[in-house]
Amino acid sequence: MNIPKQANPPIFSASLMCMNMLDMREQFRILNDRIQMYHVDIMDGHFCKNITLSPDFVKVCASVAEHPIDVHLMVEHPGDFIDQLIRVGANIISPHAETINVDAFRTIDRIKSAGCQMGVVLNPSTPLSYVSHYLNHIDLLTIMTVDVGYSGGKFVPEMLDKIREAARIREERGLHYTIQVDGACNAANFKAMDEAGAEAYVVGNTGLFAMDPDLNRAADILYADFSRETGKAL
Ligand code: MG
Repeated sequence: MNIPKQANPPIFSASLMCMNMLDMREQFRILNDRIQMYHVDIMDGHFCKNITLSPDFVKVCASVAEHPIDVHLMVEHPGDFIDQLIRVGANIISPHAETINVDAFRTIDRIKSAGCQMGVVLNPSTPLSYVSHYLNHIDLLTIMTVDVGYSGGKFVPEMLDKIREAARIREERGLHYTIQVDGACNAANFKAMDEAGAEAYVVGNTGLFAMDPDLNRAADILYADFSRETGKAL
């Protein structure tokens, strides 16, 4: 499964570290109906000071997911995870630019030759120029709009310029990546993110899961919030 190319974005990617783990089967059933991608955060406690989901979780997700699974690798050594993630059914593998620049092109080859799509993620303090020489190979460019490590981080407004720059460079160079934002994707920021050029939104607690105990109603709120804030009918 590939990143959906919708004529009319947005793409909502559900951040599964925020799902109700006591009710996973039912949550996946609803999410399959309501969102367009899945986002799995893997943190190793070293790249950032938290530990979250794992390749085994990706395997569970892949057994029920009807949408592409994007794995966000917040780990010190992403190369150690790639073969396993390919095996368990990840569709898009998104390591951090800060961790692959010693062997970025080899990493891209490994991921793409396995039939997966290539993502890359930039911390707020990392400039877009850092990935300039391989942007042509990127399918999903994720701009962190909070510092990594925890759900509920504080939005970094300086990232709006980075989103605009990513859209401009794609246009100028005729590239194809989808621009995704990760962090504080919620009613307070949808308008600014959309205007800057974001197309895919990683929705966690404040965008989706915490909006209502009933996940269907929470998704209704997400769509209503996005529509109201951006003026786009969904
Ligand atoms: Mg993430």
